Amino acid sequence: AGLTLVTALAACGSSEKTGGTSSSGGDVEGSLVGVTMPTKSSQRWIDDGDNVKAALEKLGYKVSLEYAEDQIPTQVNQIENQIAQGAKVLIVAAIDGTALTSQLESAKEQGIKVIAYDRLLRDTEAVDYYASFDNYKVGVQQATSLLTGLGLVDADGKETDEKGPFNVELFAGSPDDNNATFFFNGAMDTLKPYLDDGRLVVKSKETEFKTVAILRWDPATAQKRMEDLITKSYGDAKIDGVLSPYDGISIGILSALKSAGYGTGDQDYPIVTGQDAEAASVKSIAADEQYSTIFKDTRKLADVAVTMADDLLKGETPEVNNTEDYDNGKKVVPSQLLESQIITKDNYQEVLVDSGYYSEDDLK
Ligand code: BGC
Repeated sequence: AGLTLVTALAACGSSEKTGGTSSSGGDVEGSLVGVTMPTKSSQRWIDDGDNVKAALEKLGYKVSLEYAEDQIPTQVNQIENQIAQGAKVLIVAAIDGTALTSQLESAKEQGIKVIAYDRLLRDTEAVDYYASFDNYKVGVQQATSLLTGLGLVDADGKETDEKGPFNVELFAGSPDDNNATFFFNGAMDTLKPYLDDGRLVVKSKETEFKTVAILRWDPATAQKRMEDLITKSYGDAKIDGVLSPYDGISIGILSALKSAGYGTGDQDYPIVTGQDAEAASVKSIAADEQYSTIFKDTRKLADVAVTMADDLLKGETPEVNNTEDYDNGKKVVPSQLLESQIITKDNYQEVLVDSGYYSEDDLK
């Protein structure tokens, strides 16, 4: 079903819609759309920004695209400026999903439409639509790939006879990003039976979201935490797996593991998961370091958000496929959710290269 939806969306994105006129009769061509992204420190957001901007411009809109290097006050200013410049729609990938409330309220008062991009905007009525992936399922996929890598689950997703026990450690994303909880909940629901019966063991005993969350998804913070875990909880014991929510965090984790002697001689790296299929991590997967990542096609996400913006500008109602799961504390935000996919060494070539997402050169 996911694929059909995506194909349908792709088809509607490519149909020759141009700026044109709104159903209310006003000319919307040349309208300004404000796009705010969290940071350029991760390739995915650079691609998201570029894709959204290009698609909006193709439809005849003007675009203000801003990055805030994970600084909340910077993002607040950027949104205020876009409102002052007369933006008609805001597409926002928030750093902190609760930190933009007063700017968004002021946008709403002026009739500006707000689309939450990838990350939900929380605690406000002033968000109209949400374009994202099925974030709970991303977490399920991360945990499933950990189980597969450890041999507890086979390629068809069935439990094997393997009993372990395997030592694993858990990481989660930034606590101010709504997605981080969805990823962690999806992962923990999947791992729970294995933790309950001892096939998986968390030697550090750190299993609570707030204890394992990494503020701003920062690789260096993750590296430090992994180093501390190794020192505190693993004398002669070996780590078999690490649930990591994002490729940047996986890089930090792998580097701590490497310093502790993993990945050298006959000591393999543990099974380390990830997210975003960033080029550096896909290379790491090809080199048998990181085990898996989750591919979220940012081209399709950009299409969804741009189609929503275009519909709103023309006075039409955007298509959604979920009106239940994303309660932001003030309202359930109508959402269009895309499907994600597990990537390992076995399928990265087919899914990422053959599809044209990456060229061979990108992965050299
Ligand atoms: C996104 C992930 C990304 C993470 C860190 C999340 O909100 O959904 O794709 O890995 O932020 O940038």
